[in-house]
Amino acid sequence: MKSLRIVIVGSGLGGLAAGIRLVSEGYQVTILEKNALPGGCLRTKEINGFRFNYGAEIITAPFLFDQLFELAGKNRRDYFDLLPFEPVFQAIFPDKKRFAFFSDPKKMLQWNNLFSQEDERALFSYFQTSGQIFNKVFYDYCLKPIQEKTFQSFVPSFSKKLQTQKSSLQIAEAYFTTPELQNLFGFWPLLAGGNPKDSGFLFDMIPSILYHWGASIPVGGMKRVLDALLSVFRELGGDILYNSEVQEIQVFNRTASGVRLVDGSIRHADIVISDVDALSTFRFLIDSDKSNYASVTQAKEKIPGASVFTYHLGLSCPLEEKISLAGYNVIFPENLDVFLSDLFHRKTLSADPFFILKIPSKTDVYASPHGCEALSVVIPVPNLSGDILWERESYIFRTHLLELLQDYFITDLRKNILIEDFTDPLRMWTENGSYLGAAFSMMPGSAKKPLNRFPNRCKDIHNLYLVGAGSHPGPSIPGVLMGAANAVSQIKAEALRTI
Ligand SMILES: Cc1cc2nc3c(=O)[nH]c(=O)nc-3n(C[C@H](O)[C@H](O)[C@H](O)COP(=O)(O)OP(=O)(O)OC[C@H]3O[C@@H](n4cnc5c(N)ncnc54)[C@H](O)[C@@H]3O)c2cc1C
Repeated sequence: MKSLRIVIVGSGLGGLAAGIRLVSEGYQVTILEKNALPGGCLRTKEINGFRFNYGAEIITAPFLFDQLFELAGKNRRDYFDLLPFEPVFQAIFPDKKRFAFFSDPKKMLQWNNLFSQEDERALFSYFQTSGQIFNKVFYDYCLKPIQEKTFQSFVPSFSKKLQTQKSSLQIAEAYFTTPELQNLFGFWPLLAGGNPKDSGFLFDMIPSILYHWGASIPVGGMKRVLDALLSVFRELGGDILYNSEVQEIQVFNRTASGVRLVDGSIRHADIVISDVDALSTFRFLIDSDKSNYASVTQAKEKIPGASVFTYHLGLSCPLEEKISLAGYNVIFPENLDVFLSDLFHRKTLSADPFFILKIPSKTDVYASPHGCEALSVVIPVPNLSGDILWERESYIFRTHLLELLQDYFITDLRKNILIEDFTDPLRMWTENGSYLGAAFSMMPGSAKKPLNRFPNRCKDIHNLYLVGAGSHPGPSIPGVLMGAANAVSQIKAEALRTI
């Protein structure tokens, strides 16, 4: 076993993936998790036979999991299987027009009749651009460790060529003529807490990621993935401690010496990795000694992205649908502009929100007990920098949502509720440690400055590393898995350099 002691703060996907990589290399690794349960946004709640995901559900780019397991000398398929599904989602527009989003544009054309001839041509040229962005961004940027100066030089070098100085919505508007398709191909930044009117072209690689690898759900739910990661980490000798909230990463002379927990105990470490939201890491775990670190100043300047309100329902009967619904439905409001202004500028709850309506039983029969139905709604909502009093508003908003949902079902939801649960921005902050409840850490970069995550190796504290949604390359399961790989490759390179 290598003698370096590594402490990882947080057992989210980033912490566990980095942990597995490091124990596979023979390092001594301890993960400290503040909650009684691991996983952060990968957590699942099981209540009376209903299974709800706290966060992630869909897996794209599964080869990243395969690589992680191979590196640990394991076969991912021995731990969990993936079930691909199509369409990836169904978009539903205000007049109940529907559009099935398949990973292959040819299938989209076969299954939808929303297109004008111009839009048919536009679909293929949009996918071409998405492919170019994907090739450049996924392989040359996301899969590599990035330093501050590379951040600055990366975008101009290729954005000039692709003429992508536009926001996601502007790009979609440049390709498509129908407003529905403009909204559909421009909404991607909302999936990461960003404003489609500001956030840049990086998100336009999402259709290409789906084209390459499709979308899958883990058989047995995200719990299977989390259990698999925990088993592999432990099988290889990793240690994980729960109810162990870190209050401070102790830094002397730009070197992290370990962490202090809320109970006052201290754990020394040669390397500290934080999987806690990067904004919280710098604002609260590092700044406690008030030294003047540039990363702390930067973190204070960054704007946290949107939060999410997640509402789960367990019903005593199957759902009768007024319109045919898919497993994942993306519901567009009457006026996306108004919704975006409410969300990002007025910071209020929109009466007519954009939301994702999930019916887990359509993709996973075990998500609810026999004869019952589970239902989840995910809505981007303002983070806690707004004036919303969530202690009061969550319940009012939940009641409003029930009314909205009646639009899609004949079944009387209220009469048939067995289980209800929700996560609001307050819980995102207190339970997950996400600064101001921002569900995906900082606001994604703007069209002009699209790269704004922190490098995986802290630039001013030399043995501090960052993984997870707020660090390079950013949120989502693939993003966080790539970030963990990048952080560990930098740790290994640094260890070799100092031998
Ligand atoms: C509602 C929602 C839906 C999503 N859906 C998808 C999806 O379908 N597909 C997809 O690819 N991605 C999805 N994502 C994104 C994906 O889930 C996240 O980007 C990823 O899981 C974040 O992992 P992370 O490593 O940043 O850690 P996090 O999940 O943020 O976990 C951080 C961990 O650190 C712990 N912690 C915090 N503070 C401390 C402290 N002081 N001391 C010790 N421990 C601490 C927390 O308790 C937590 O366990 C979704 C996210 C959300 C919120």
